[in-house]
Amino acid sequence: MSAIISVKNLVKNYGSFEAVKGISFEVQEGEIFGLLGPNGAGKSTTLEIIETLRNKTSGEVMVAGYNIDKNVDKIKQVIGVQLQTSGFYPGLNLAELINLFSGLYNEPVDAIALLKLVNLEDKARNKFKELSGGQKQRFSIATTIINKPKIIFLDEPTTGLDPQARRNLWDLIRDIRAKGTTIIITTHYMDEAEILCDRVAIMNEGKIIALNSPDQLIDDLVATGFERPKEVKQANLEDVFINLTGHALRSE
Ligand code: ADP
Repeated sequence: MSAIISVKNLVKNYGSFEAVKGISFEVQEGEIFGLLGPNGAGKSTTLEIIETLRNKTSGEVMVAGYNIDKNVDKIKQVIGVQLQTSGFYPGLNLAELINLFSGLYNEPVDAIALLKLVNLEDKARNKFKELSGGQKQRFSIATTIINKPKIIFLDEPTTGLDPQARRNLWDLIRDIRAKGTTIIITTHYMDEAEILCDRVAIMNEGKIIALNSPDQLIDDLVATGFERPKEVKQANLEDVFINLTGHALRSE
């Protein structure tokens, strides 16, 4: 594996406020990389700079071999970003929206095949507002891969979803990665990061305070003598919920 994103000494100031304080990290090609941290840590600022949507104050960012200072257009061609749902024109159905974006990207795409990939082929003639929360997220992820990007950015893709829809989305994210796409994801769900991410960077107050595989970070904590205060049971309430209500998706 080689680095597909390289960030060196990245700084972002908003006026006199330092939102990102000289962070450095690399994302390897083909990995699912999590950017974690409390609200205000600087995650969105960092991602928006890499996505070429925001200017940095200083530092060096390389994306797929292109320097962000020189090749913004090239970078835009190789990344997929979730669009604001306001861009989903209310009068168009899902197939029409995909065809619209396909035209904007100048990238021919088979709308039905793409909807099939995200398990929405039977919703091709429906409007976005007619979808359930999980279906909306799956459609939004589908729009990130229209331009056949090397890297996609997913911002809290499972927030607000029920446990079945979350698991379904994890499968979709894994499927997309299996096709060779690098995925950068933010989430506030640590169980999700643990299951899904090959490596995570934990940000706090504009700095990266840890970066490793979830497994290694947990082992490092345990090695300090940390123990969970509560007895660990063989199952948790989510297991109970899934066991009772099944794995199948609802409102499909
Ligand atoms: P996160 O995504 O981790 O919640 P953000 O990158 O959105 O963090 O924000 C990092 C810090 O920068 C926060 O303190 C936030 O208030 C501040 N910030 C974000 N955007 C702006 C902006 N456009 N102008 C001024 N301050 C901002």
